[in-house]
Amino acid sequence: MSNFAEELLARIGPGGVRIGAEVEPRHRHDWTVEMPSGDGPLAVVYPRNAEEVSTVLRLCQAHRHPVVVQGGLTGLAGGATPVDGCVVLSMERMRGIEEVDTDAGTMTVQAGVTLQTVQETADTAGLLFPLDLGARGSCLIGGNLSTNAGGNRVLRYGMMRDLVLGLEVVLADGTVVTSLNKMIKNNAGYDLKHLFIGTEGTLGVVTRAVLRLHPKPRSVCTALCAVADYAAVLRLLRLARERLGGTLSAFEVMWPEVYRRVEATLGRPAPLPHGHGAYVLVEAMGTDQMPDQERFEAIMQQGFEDGIVTDAVIAQSGEQTAAFWTLRDACGDFGEVLWPAVGFDVSLPVGRIGEFVELCQERLAARWPEAESVFFGHVADGNIHIGVKVAEEPLPVHAIDVVVYDAVREFQGSISAEHGIGVLKKEFLPHSVSPEALALMRTVKAALDPNGLLNPGKVIDPTMG
Ligand SMILES: Cc1cc2nc3c(=O)[nH]c(=O)nc-3n(C[C@H](O)[C@H](O)[C@H](O)COP(=O)(O)OP(=O)(O)OC[C@H]3O[C@@H](n4cnc5c(N)ncnc54)[C@H](O)[C@@H]3O)c2cc1C
Repeated sequence: MSNFAEELLARIGPGGVRIGAEVEPRHRHDWTVEMPSGDGPLAVVYPRNAEEVSTVLRLCQAHRHPVVVQGGLTGLAGGATPVDGCVVLSMERMRGIEEVDTDAGTMTVQAGVTLQTVQETADTAGLLFPLDLGARGSCLIGGNLSTNAGGNRVLRYGMMRDLVLGLEVVLADGTVVTSLNKMIKNNAGYDLKHLFIGTEGTLGVVTRAVLRLHPKPRSVCTALCAVADYAAVLRLLRLARERLGGTLSAFEVMWPEVYRRVEATLGRPAPLPHGHGAYVLVEAMGTDQMPDQERFEAIMQQGFEDGIVTDAVIAQSGEQTAAFWTLRDACGDFGEVLWPAVGFDVSLPVGRIGEFVELCQERLAARWPEAESVFFGHVADGNIHIGVKVAEEPLPVHAIDVVVYDAVREFQGSISAEHGIGVLKKEFLPHSVSPEALALMRTVKAALDPNGLLNPGKVIDPTMG
């Protein structure tokens, strides 16, 4: 056994370290990217607190071993996939919920708590932690922070960045920086937490966080609307924003192709017939079900009268609401109806998404006449997900990436709305980030991690630009 391994075992204890062949295969990949075959991680360490994380990072600095942090391994960009010879820091033993402060509306947690546990704990305290995504049972808060996760309720509550007030992080050299702020207002110098939110484990290791809780909504009103085209989607969004104001909590759009395919997987007729230009799930969360429902129905009625909505179903029960969401959520599993497919998570100026979809369809068809594609997403946030399948084997992933990401660049959009860059989208980062901004990113990385040991090869390369 090497000196390094002996030191790790001595400092963390055998219960928290796996060396070489003892490393479980599940640590070799995130949700999408498998580690290339090679030696594999040197070791996996399961720290229990910031002090142990600090100990590991100091040791890794001394021995110049790269470090890859792993949360729940549900990431979709290969950010948590190990690199050869690295030490994996798995946060899964850091599952403490330290405090729920109902006056401040905060919850202080360790980074290894699952999102679902945070949601349930907030609920028990009569409050809401609004971040929600399909991987809720497996993803960890540290992973949500490090990817700045989004999901279905961003329109009303913001992304993960908007749901955190304080952080504790361990820097590459092992320094523990604790700033467990609980106040919404705090302009005392640089707000350093933003250096670590959304930076995919390349600048530091998040060990604790103060999360922001919200009052629980007391009413939910949901409708599935059919409209003629994207211009009508925009008119409906304007109407919903004006009349529902801050209670508007979801505005999810499905283009016809995905609606048709998803219905086939559900095995029952979708709530609205086919033949429309787009389908929109509109949801509002308020405080009093009866009056809120009446107002919501009046707004939908206005949508009809103004010629915006051509058909609609308004949920009259929790079961109907759930059925609408099942349809929308099933779009996320488009791989099941369009396989093999290349997936995208991009964002664009909301007013131009319709034009973007048409352009992508045209360019894909020009290159691959048999191309099939699906489009859906959180349109009010500017975020659409795309699935593309073409009749070529093996699937020309890179060529499809180029078609879609070139179009994103032309529309001044972002190649990653919520899933991050990891390894999968690194090549295309300059499509959405200027050379000056890339240079600044490299400066920040060099300042915080001068030896380049934190998650090397992820997000940005030292020479990129
Ligand atoms: C079914 C499904 C649905 C999804 N839906 C959505 C969605 O709607 N919206 C969305 O935004 N994402 C979604 N995702 C993607 C994924 O769940 C999120 O990105 C999630 O936030 C990742 O959390 P994790 O704990 O699994 O992180 P991991 O995959 O383990 O890690 C992700 C990145 O964060 C880094 N990291 C993890 N923990 C730490 C830490 N403590 N300190 C520093 N760096 C760390 C890793 O190194 C890696 O770069 C979905 C994924 C799946 C499988």
